[in-house]
Amino acid sequence: MIWSKAESAPREVIEETQVARLRETANRVYAINPFYKKKFDALGILPEDIKGVEDVRKLPFTKKQDLRDHYPFGLFCVPMTEVVRVHSSSGTTGKPTVVGYNQNDMDVWGEVMARVYTMSGTDANDVVHNGYGYGLFTGGLGFHYGAEHVGATVVPASGGFTDRQLMLMRDFGATVLACTPSFALHMAEVAAKAGSDFKKDYKLKAGIFGAEPTSPGLKAEVAKAWGIKYHEVYGLSEIIGPGVSCSCEHSELLHIFEDHFLAEIIDPKTGEPVPEGERGELVITTLTKQALPIIRYRTGDITSIIKEPCKCGRTHARMESIVGRADDMLIVNGVNIYPSQVEHVIANAEGVTLNYQIIADKKGHLDKLEILVEVSDDIMVDSVGEMERIKKEIQASLLNNLYINANVKLVEPRTIERSMGKAVRVIDKRK
Ligand SMILES: [Zn+2]
Repeated sequence: MIWSKAESAPREVIEETQVARLRETANRVYAINPFYKKKFDALGILPEDIKGVEDVRKLPFTKKQDLRDHYPFGLFCVPMTEVVRVHSSSGTTGKPTVVGYNQNDMDVWGEVMARVYTMSGTDANDVVHNGYGYGLFTGGLGFHYGAEHVGATVVPASGGFTDRQLMLMRDFGATVLACTPSFALHMAEVAAKAGSDFKKDYKLKAGIFGAEPTSPGLKAEVAKAWGIKYHEVYGLSEIIGPGVSCSCEHSELLHIFEDHFLAEIIDPKTGEPVPEGERGELVITTLTKQALPIIRYRTGDITSIIKEPCKCGRTHARMESIVGRADDMLIVNGVNIYPSQVEHVIANAEGVTLNYQIIADKKGHLDKLEILVEVSDDIMVDSVGEMERIKKEIQASLLNNLYINANVKLVEPRTIERSMGKAVRVIDKRK
């Protein structure tokens, strides 16, 4: 089932909608908000210069810092009498970023979240157990209203209290679980320890997971532990909250709701677009938000996008699961490398732990890469043959999967330098 006709519109229709809405959004921010007017003027661009989708590239970027600089409501484009809700980031350092919604924006949010639920097969017959945190964080309420929108029964469990959550899931017959993947895995572990018979005690059929970095390994573990279909959702509060994109029943990739969000992939260093299918930083422009429209928001998330239609019938472009953060990117001999990709290779190797360190250095004109990996406690470090075999295997996997030529050095457990209890991931000696 597909929630909205817009999700399977022909590409020309998607683009026509995008251009019209982009121009409308540009008009709105230019006319109302001095921050945007100044930025447009500095580039010598007017809203009416937008003639095609690609003209979005003429517009200025917006960064997280811009929201902080205009704390709390400085980037809002409607009077406060029209704002019906605010949310904010956790703001671990300094002031948080604040986002606002008017009734139109709440309707848009409900609509995109209804699409998310429909992708996971959720409808009025379902009981949704919502384990996302309720409060200033957009997760809880975003998933809450979306579930009501499709007519499902929503259990607003919020986070924490694992035993009680498991009891509610059993007693209320939850069929859909919405929470972070790590919490889903934690709950499965607690349930298994308590001797649960997953088939008999629980009725779960699908889960909608997001709000934290994930890996193919973690996804497979969650799906297997609960015996459910894993749907991944992506979103960020600056854009709307959860509901920017979600994976359908046929694809691991996430459909972006292109009639509401215009997505671009750029080279994070140059700001220039990359060819379709290549990885870079995700940049999003909201097309229908009114209280806080955002032009070309630099998400800092690294992904790629393909436009090829999907087997499910949706024509909306698909992005891959976030592979890393732009800030963590290393360029080694012209190849972009993200620590998360290296971590994925190490996670699939035997005899080693996830404590590793990437050291980039120069040798003549070339960059050279060394990767230290701590072996597991049960590996005999004096077994030269065994150590050599593990090292060769990781090196080959890095080369085959990531095109990285690195020297892997296996080291004894707990020998890599730690910061706040975690191994220091990257050391760049070239700087
Ligand atoms: Zn699909």
